[in-house]
Amino acid sequence: MASTGSVATMVIEPDYVELRDAVSRVCQDFPGPYWQELDAKSEYPTEFVNAMTKHGFLSALIPEEYGGSGMPLRAAGVILEVIHETGCSAGACHAQMYTMGTVLRHGSDEQKNKYLPRIATGELRLQAFGVSEPTTGSDTTQLQTRAERKGDVYVVNGQKIWTSRALHSDLMLLLARTTPKDQVKKRTEGISTFLIDIRDARDRGLDIRPIDTMINHHTTEVHFDNFEIPADSLVGEEGKGFRYILDGMNAERILLSSEALGNARYFIRKAVAYAKERVVFGRPIGQNQGIQLPIAKAYAETEAAELMARKAAAMFAAGLNCGAEANMAHLLSAEAAWNAAEACFETFGGFAFAREYDIERKWRECRLSRTAPISPNLVLTYIGQHVLGLPRSY
Ligand SMILES: Cc1cc2nc3c(=O)[nH]c(=O)nc-3n(C[C@H](O)[C@H](O)[C@H](O)COP(=O)(O)OP(=O)(O)OC[C@H]3O[C@@H](n4cnc5c(N)ncnc54)[C@H](O)[C@@H]3O)c2cc1C
Repeated sequence: MASTGSVATMVIEPDYVELRDAVSRVCQDFPGPYWQELDAKSEYPTEFVNAMTKHGFLSALIPEEYGGSGMPLRAAGVILEVIHETGCSAGACHAQMYTMGTVLRHGSDEQKNKYLPRIATGELRLQAFGVSEPTTGSDTTQLQTRAERKGDVYVVNGQKIWTSRALHSDLMLLLARTTPKDQVKKRTEGISTFLIDIRDARDRGLDIRPIDTMINHHTTEVHFDNFEIPADSLVGEEGKGFRYILDGMNAERILLSSEALGNARYFIRKAVAYAKERVVFGRPIGQNQGIQLPIAKAYAETEAAELMARKAAAMFAAGLNCGAEANMAHLLSAEAAWNAAEACFETFGGFAFAREYDIERKWRECRLSRTAPISPNLVLTYIGQHVLGLPRSY
């Protein structure tokens, strides 16, 4: 375990400069019009995902023995940050990074050998994560989807919602109840995690329907109707799945906070450039405090949020408990990004609405980090209860 000193050092020095350059170079091949066209047609960024895979960025967290580059979590965060900072979208990249972690930490050797090398090469996509359900929302332990063991299969029945990229993924990490709630001591027990193959499964009891949303995120609702999955799809031990997912949540929060920071930096860069160049009433609009100060405030918030994100990543790397830091990093980065988005929108005036400027698209996309995977309210209730010792409010 690293000392506190090394955590401090990891937070302060500039990091991954060469990696940033390398990711940025690939992103330059995917300028605004590429994303505008996908957005207009609700299409998946196949060429972008292929390029990211080819350069090894999507397998950053897969250990070298399984064909990945075995980088630390912070490096994966930097990859996502640069993708957003350059105006691209990491929606199709992030899920593979954090869902894979559950397989890595809790999967059997057989599962890891079978799937991870093929995920690393891009032959298989693991980009679908089935947790949320329509009736239970943020209260995950109340989920209704059931997986019942019958001989050498589990039979799955239920419904997931907001399962992003299910129509573009070969595999899905699924959370389902294996023991009814009234037969377990704690509601966190009796829930299991499965790694399932969803290719060609639509005529076997799996139905995936796209949800039309305000951003191009390929999100879906998934219905399971007596859908049979092999018993060896179970990840780890039966009934412990909720703990496995919780284990992965700190990594997810840290990665997504980097993504939000990338958005913040994109908006600040765009706003500053436009505020210097746009002249109204005979002077650059950036000379007006009403334009300048919100951008400056968003910059200060972004710098502060980055410190928390890097602290959380350093603690994660050192094997320290980083639940509070990961949650705070997500909260602060998402807030900084949203404030930067608003400042940028304001700066661009009417032109913010014109699709060719990309501001409206990034503004829509940026709003997601204030909702998923967790809202500010639920992060604050976590801090209230687990850090400040206040009574549980949910
Ligand atoms: C585009 C998109 C992609 C997504 N992708 C995925 C995915 O791939 N996989 C997946 O599993 N899920 C995914 N989600 C789901 C996302 O994680 C959920 O939307 C989120 O967890 C909130 O659940 P909910 O929408 O049911 O809101 P609800 O739980 O119904 O909450 C509604 C509001 O009430 C607030 N609230 C609820 N309870 C409390 C409380 N006790 N105290 C204070 N406030 C409270 C919440 O903060 C929220 O603002 C996605 C969502 C979207 C929009």
